Amino acid sequence: MEKYVCLTCGRPFNEGQGIILRIGERDLTFHSKACAYKFLKEVLQNADSGCISSPLREIYRKYDEIREKIEERAKKKKI
Ligand SMILES: [Zn+2]
Repeated sequence: MEKYVCLTCGRPFNEGQGIILRIGERDLTFHSKACAYKFLKEVLQNADSGCISSPLREIYRKYDEIREKIEERAKKKKI
């Protein structure tokens, strides 16, 4: 079993645990959601806003549609 080290706190963890995100050629490895959040939040806050505005808009729109569908379904259930 492969061993990974959390990029945020240095804690080792086994394959199948924690969070592993492959971005390009790089593996981002975190032992917990909290560590992943801490790291990725800094990435987003330090990223050039011009670079992330387009994917941000796309993903925002995607979840906007998902939320609408959930709301629609909830409304139908009430009727
Ligand atoms: Zn960690």
